[in-house]
Amino acid sequence: MTRSPELRGKKITVVGLGRSGIAAARLCVREGASVTVTDSRPAAALGPALGALEVLPLRRMLGGHDQRDFTAADLVVVSPGVPMSMAELKAAQAAGVPTWSEVELASRFLGATPLVAITGTNGKSTTTALAGALFSEDRRTFVGGNLGTPLCEHVLSGQPADVVVAELSSFQLEGIERLRARVAAILNVTPDHLDRYPGLDAYAAAKARLFETQQPGDFAVANLRDDRAMAMAAASRGALYTFGFGPPARAAARAPEDGRSELWFYRYAAGSPERYRIANRSLRGRHNLENAMAALVCARLLGVPGAAVQRGLDHFTGLPHRLELVSERGGVEWINDSKATNVDSTGVGLAAFPPGPPRVVLILGGRGKKAPYAPLRALFKDRVKALLTIGEDAPAIEKALSDAAATEGCGTLAQAVTRAAALTAPGDVVLLSPACASYDQFKSFEERGERFRQLVGALP
Ligand code: ADP
Repeated sequence: MTRSPELRGKKITVVGLGRSGIAAARLCVREGASVTVTDSRPAAALGPALGALEVLPLRRMLGGHDQRDFTAADLVVVSPGVPMSMAELKAAQAAGVPTWSEVELASRFLGATPLVAITGTNGKSTTTALAGALFSEDRRTFVGGNLGTPLCEHVLSGQPADVVVAELSSFQLEGIERLRARVAAILNVTPDHLDRYPGLDAYAAAKARLFETQQPGDFAVANLRDDRAMAMAAASRGALYTFGFGPPARAAARAPEDGRSELWFYRYAAGSPERYRIANRSLRGRHNLENAMAALVCARLLGVPGAAVQRGLDHFTGLPHRLELVSERGGVEWINDSKATNVDSTGVGLAAFPPGPPRVVLILGGRGKKAPYAPLRALFKDRVKALLTIGEDAPAIEKALSDAAATEGCGTLAQAVTRAAALTAPGDVVLLSPACASYDQFKSFEERGERFRQLVGALP
């Protein structure tokens, strides 16, 4: 077990008591620090997770913060849910107190284990899970971070790992100091989280931190079609590797432009490219080819053998709620893309089905995000055979799209599934890719997706 001498006897405040914050607090206690945990929510709202802290020697300051816990601390550790712009954190920084994100804390305990870090606006979880699957074919791999298990929990577990593959969000990257990724990959940078950042530049700057801490000998991996991503990676002291569509190029992963399902990997100074087959339905769509290229580059750069990479690509089962095949009955594929909570994501989902005779029965609706639905029209042509609407924003969806496909207002997901079953023939696809948040009818997109799975399972 790696220990860190730098925390013993230190006064550490952990702010934000979600799963990451709780793990960070436990780790600091284990290291012999004098720990205060604080959260703006009162104990009652924090729930049973707090139980993990009950038995530990630490101070609790819940239902609000005491400024002195920030300015008089030796170190403040920040959960990803807490904005760095919070007044108490600004005050700590002004007082010269380091403010680390939970992943910075964890990184101090990784020792010589290489870290593969994946960030970007879209596709982080899929790419992290896939890269984790490729590495797992060859060595002991921990996969987590923003996806699944927090890094501090991994450190606490003492589980041996030969590589750590982590999804890192911009919130986590804002608070890194020395966290160093042996391989850092950036998928794309598009407007998001602008509620937490003053603008796209500030949001991009948070992600750029990942490359600023790299050292010579490390690898920076970026999407060739994304100028912001490329600029960030190019600023790394590590070697730049790109991925993208189009003709072969040096030192990159490439996918052919014609939609053939294969990937090529090139190395500097090496001769002919390696070729990988993508025949896995969990990786359908151009966006997933991009994610696969990124994962492939990470794995090959750290020496996962080509045969293991191919096995990982073949066996990857995908993540739930992202173009997830939940059932195939009577020649009809039922696909849960409940994670598509905005119009762009639904566009990406629909585009994953090749144009031809329209075969897709599409379920759209929920709580709208005020973005126009009309951009989906172009994708309806040659794809969508029927549109079924549900939820609050059905009127707006019908107004924008009802002349692009036969449309029925269904109200609920249950009714939409019943109607979809009646409308489909062998070879068709039923796609739940709602373009809306779920909160009008469900607790979360996960609950919506699970409900879809149950409803489909219960069909006669
Ligand atoms: P994240 O963890 O970044 O939210 P996910 O892997 O969960 O990413 O994918 C979320 C959604 O983003 C998917 O449902 C899909 O619509 C879209 N997406 C996934 N990969 C990409 C990509 N490479 N480029 C653009 N959009 C993508």
